[in-house]
Amino acid sequence: MINTSRKITIAIDGYSSCGKSTLAKAIAKELNYVYVDTGAMYRGTALYCHRLGLAHAQSPDIEQIVQELPNIQISFQYNPETQQSDLFLNGENVEKEIRTLEISQLVSPIAAIKEVREKMVDEQRNMGKEGGVVLDGRDIGSVVFPNAELKLFLTAQPTIRAERRRKELEEKGENVSLDEVLKNIEERDYLDTTRKESPLIQTEDAVVLDNSFLTREEQLVWVLDKIREILG
Ligand code: C5P
Repeated sequence: MINTSRKITIAIDGYSSCGKSTLAKAIAKELNYVYVDTGAMYRGTALYCHRLGLAHAQSPDIEQIVQELPNIQISFQYNPETQQSDLFLNGENVEKEIRTLEISQLVSPIAAIKEVREKMVDEQRNMGKEGGVVLDGRDIGSVVFPNAELKLFLTAQPTIRAERRRKELEEKGENVSLDEVLKNIEERDYLDTTRKESPLIQTEDAVVLDNSFLTREEQLVWVLDKIREILG
């Protein structure tokens, strides 16, 4: 049994398509915590910019995007059908659109913009301020909640990650090659780890989990053990 009277903050960071959100959702369900998919917030912002023609692959129109930021409202709403939270962009459910490979190819350069990050980080801190929250992303343990009681850093072999993501896209009706997905994952990892503003790093106090050969259940058991150690 886990003592759930104390509500902690759980930060999950790591490379693209490592299964961070799958694990985060499972933890949140188990502990009855709030789950915040911070990647979805950057994806929603990228979709907004794309619709205005400001995303341009590797070189987004930074000045215009910064000017548009006050017009971008990102929120989550629980969907009883899927029993998960959907991302809303200015009141429109864009959950499906933000998961396409096209948005995956546009998001990282936009997420590298300082002002975009400031806005998202503010909102994420607000969503998690009461504790009892699991957030996944790239800068959660390093920037958003540096005092999180549990920090996980997820990693897995690139080809395994690419195959998982390819399958996920296929299940959603998008048929793309393994090569395309692998290329996107590697590009995003490169951009996310080398950008100037809060790059993806493994903080010293993070516990590393390589889940290349672990099932979802095995990962959950492993994390719940860590949580039990913290909560007593
Ligand atoms: O987690 P997900 O793969 O959906 O995130 C999409 C992109 O958003 C990442 O590749 C990264 O560029 C950006 N991101 C970020 N910081 C976060 C979460 C996501 O820069 N906390």
